[in-house]
Amino acid sequence: MKAAIGIDIGGTNIQVGLTLELGEVLHQTSLRVVHYQQNQIFLNVLTDVVQEFTALSNDLEIIGIGIGSPGANILSGTIQNASNLPWDNLPIVGHLKTETALPVYLTNDANLFAIAEKVFGQAKEMQDFISLTLGTGVGAGIYTSGELLTGRDGLAGEVGHLVYNRGGRPCKCGRNGCLERYVSASGVVETTRQLIREARLESELIGIPESYITAEAVAEAAKNDDLLAIRVFEVTGQILGESLADLTATFNPETIFISGGLANANEVLFAPLRSSFEKSLLAIYPTEIPVLKSSIPDRNAGVLGASALVWEQSKIATESTLTAYD
Ligand SMILES: [Zn+2]
Repeated sequence: MKAAIGIDIGGTNIQVGLTLELGEVLHQTSLRVVHYQQNQIFLNVLTDVVQEFTALSNDLEIIGIGIGSPGANILSGTIQNASNLPWDNLPIVGHLKTETALPVYLTNDANLFAIAEKVFGQAKEMQDFISLTLGTGVGAGIYTSGELLTGRDGLAGEVGHLVYNRGGRPCKCGRNGCLERYVSASGVVETTRQLIREARLESELIGIPESYITAEAVAEAAKNDDLLAIRVFEVTGQILGESLADLTATFNPETIFISGGLANANEVLFAPLRSSFEKSLLAIYPTEIPVLKSSIPDRNAGVLGASALVWEQSKIATESTLTAYD
């Protein structure tokens, strides 16, 4: 039986998993970025983990390694300029290829959910869809005509930094008013703080020290009919709906998937989001473009997405002569 290794690199943790073709995760382990700050140390540890997984799977044929990371340069196979990662110009693809003799594929981490949705989720038969991940920031993976949109460097889909409100909230990218300052987990917290300061609505969140307010706590409060928390998600859903209508005008998707921690707010977020989306959509589009919660579980979405890169690329490789980084 064939298997693939998926590596999901985040700002805090690196998840490594061994998966089967239908999306079953056989083994998964986690490394903390803070423990492996130097290029060579990290590459050595990662190679050790991959080799342990290979040793665990005598009866399996591992056909490749997929990696999702911020700052992924798909041309050079390196990780560059990722603001949350300590490594400088990390030659991750070349190193793992040499050490394991396996094909290695790299993509931007924002694409992992979209790839997982296409290979294992609800988008198997879809050609044109957007997968938006609402986490600490906002990322998107976009499929057009059955292909993942990468752009020249693999950096397409940075929709979190589309300017929603010119001159608005400062963003760590150096600009102001970026979408992710409003519709991410941190955006929800900021909107909550703002509404608490305005003091127009009652709330169980008033009086909690500002640094203790989380997006999950606000979502819970909204589910318990807290007026201020409901208003936070109405504002968030409205902004998100308007932005999805803008993205629809560019990409004409058949469905939009929402994933990431904020998606777990469920109808508290999705009801105002869908209503705003339908109101904002240009009349030329059908109104029934579904906005769905992703079916890929958060806990291994990254690993599944990264390994899905292997399954998808291996299919392309057998269909043509294309192989990874040859
Ligand atoms: Zn920004």
